[in-house]
Amino acid sequence: MKKILQDLSFAEVETLVIGMGEKKFRAKQLFEGLTQGKAISAITSLSKDFKARLLEEYEDVPVKIKETYYSSDGTEKYLFELADGNIVEGVLMKYKYGFTQCISTQVGCRMGCKFCASTLNGLVRNMTAGEILSQILIVNALHKADALGKGDEARAVTNIVLMGSGEPLDNYDETVKFLRNVTAEEGVRISARNISLSTCGIVPKMYQFAEEGIPLNLTVSLHATDDITRARTMPVAKAYKIEDILKACDHYFQKTGRRYYFEYTLIEGENCDEAHAEALIKLLKGKPCHVNLIRLNEVKERDLKALDDKSAYRFLGKLEKGGLSATLRRQIGVDIGGACGQLRANYINEK
Ligand code: SAH
Repeated sequence: MKKILQDLSFAEVETLVIGMGEKKFRAKQLFEGLTQGKAISAITSLSKDFKARLLEEYEDVPVKIKETYYSSDGTEKYLFELADGNIVEGVLMKYKYGFTQCISTQVGCRMGCKFCASTLNGLVRNMTAGEILSQILIVNALHKADALGKGDEARAVTNIVLMGSGEPLDNYDETVKFLRNVTAEEGVRISARNISLSTCGIVPKMYQFAEEGIPLNLTVSLHATDDITRARTMPVAKAYKIEDILKACDHYFQKTGRRYYFEYTLIEGENCDEAHAEALIKLLKGKPCHVNLIRLNEVKERDLKALDDKSAYRFLGKLEKGGLSATLRRQIGVDIGGACGQLRANYINEK
């Protein structure tokens, strides 16, 4: 595989361009073209010779949309193809205030959560910062006509969630580099406040991340109220205790002033009876956090069942009555199949 130009910050592109003997303003043209989701070869403001020299070393298009699935509610799901042929998936959710894109950070995942399809074949490789970013650049370009705002501020994708395949904190350096580039003054400039990073709770990395000065919405996949239950579906629970995860969350809040979030997927017979609701209230009451209840997307390879809607609302009601801030996440795009690695898994199985 060649190198990926989208890995670079604006300052790095400038250094590269000047080092190649080109005028400084070419860096701006190149960077703008990339930000608009263009292939290097399609940036018309640059000379053929300069582009040819770039293409000797860099991928023309690091990420392509291989398939798009359209839901009747407007949601779009994508299979992205990387330059080495690997496939990752993403989702675009359309809201009134803008579009939220769910992106992947790794090809596969090694965390082994029982309910998740991303992990079925383990980790294939980490994505680079530029591959992570390119998912957004190409979807933004695709939806140029839907961009909100004016001039430089105009963009279709306004919010990002790192909730596709992969564990972002297991690909720490590239994820942080991506976050710096996507929030930078130059480029797509998506505010950290509009970005959610979801982790299964790798405690030391959570502390490390608190030092980066990126005030985003830190979201932890909790899915249980005690370590033994949690370890049944999440092997990572054997390494990190809930108690320590909560301390790391509080630390993040102290450092950034940002409240944090928990994801709690409702799995029938596993984590969502009355006693679990009470335990969750006891665990989280008074903390600067919000709980997102998620309906399980049943994975056919696994034997876990989703909770019925009525019981899900009862569970939510119980949490609210107990003083927690909580919502049951609306299910969207259901007519175009699951997410959470299921599109990719199906695609690979069919091949
Ligand atoms: N590795 C990160 C991002 C994972 S995906 C993490 O663990 O948080 C984002 C969320 O979707 C996580 O909370 C994950 O546990 C959840 N998830 C994965 N598979 C799911 C499924 N089949 N149904 C419902 N939620 C699922």
